[in-house]
Amino acid sequence: MNDLKSLLDELVEAGSNPKKTVLKSMQDTKKEAVGCFPIYTPEEIIYAAGYLPVGMWGGPTDLKLADKYLQGFCCSIMRSNIEYGMKGTYSFLKAVAISTFCDTLKCICENWKVAVPEIPLIPVVYPQNRMIEAGKEYLNEEFKRVAKELEKLSGKLITEDAINESFEIYEDFRAAMREFTVAVSTHLNTIDAKTRHLVIKASFFMDKKTYTLKIKEITKELNALPKEDFNGIKVIATGLIAEPTALLDILVENNIGIIDDDLSQESRGFRVAARKEGTVYERMVSRIVDQRGCTFLFEEAKTRGAMLIDMVNKHQADAVLVIMMKFCDPEEFDYPIYKEEIENNGIPILYVETEQQMDSAEQIRTRIQSFAEMLTVEV
Ligand code: SF4
Repeated sequence: MNDLKSLLDELVEAGSNPKKTVLKSMQDTKKEAVGCFPIYTPEEIIYAAGYLPVGMWGGPTDLKLADKYLQGFCCSIMRSNIEYGMKGTYSFLKAVAISTFCDTLKCICENWKVAVPEIPLIPVVYPQNRMIEAGKEYLNEEFKRVAKELEKLSGKLITEDAINESFEIYEDFRAAMREFTVAVSTHLNTIDAKTRHLVIKASFFMDKKTYTLKIKEITKELNALPKEDFNGIKVIATGLIAEPTALLDILVENNIGIIDDDLSQESRGFRVAARKEGTVYERMVSRIVDQRGCTFLFEEAKTRGAMLIDMVNKHQADAVLVIMMKFCDPEEFDYPIYKEEIENNGIPILYVETEQQMDSAEQIRTRIQSFAEMLTVEV
């Protein structure tokens, strides 16, 4: 138990202090870092190029400089990232990689070049329709183009051995994360909503090999404990990111546990294993092709609602918690569709709107408290 506690404390600390963790990881690995904007940035290629890929998920900051480039209705993650970039917070980065899933991300590429010219940019352009052959071929070529850009940056070739090894490290990491989330689902007293989030978040700031060893150890320790009876409210969290931290504190205060998630910063990043066949780049493409129910990847038949309902039934969860980052258009467009499906199945759903620069979380507190009271009465 002591081992478990100290490992959890270590990763919670790492997830709570991104910059400190990244600087330590750089020192430990003797690698330069490349920043990865959300979402689906192909970290494996960056790792294979000899860099330390690190997540860039914004954070709380006073927005003063970013408004020169981004309007007030842009999502707060991107406003924070540009603000941090312009303030010099990211000066230790060798480059940044930005994928272009939404209108904001498309513009951010151009904004970054002007606002933070000292940190080179590597754009990663995903196909609009990844299901068709042309989409798959395009993405395969795009990953190879990103590899070439990284080779130019480092002045070294990415060997086949390096990319194969890196991909296996990431597949091992993703499998370990899937096992961790399963173990958490039966240990919600030991792993509350905030701990779950911060432990997962730490993975973005550490070397993946080092992190994977620690998360495997945590899962082993959890699985050695008896399954726990959780007398609180079990929710499936969906959205981009379970932040700010004040939101997680409120969940913990109200005895609400996250039994599983459909969040971009969490399970969406590791729930799909690559297909076994094909070249390493084809296998990378297969992970994106096989992803379902994600707002950011086009689906003619929207499957997110059915997926969330399945998750609720599988875990006998009490509700779906929608964490909506203001003003993330793709997430907002999906909401009315899956909300109706979930409600038609008699599943309670709570929508909370968040941003990273929130002065007060009191509105969220009131909504969550009322929801928790309502569910407790129903139970
Ligand atoms: S709008 Fe959504 S997907 Fe686009 S950058 Fe902002 S948070 Fe990310």
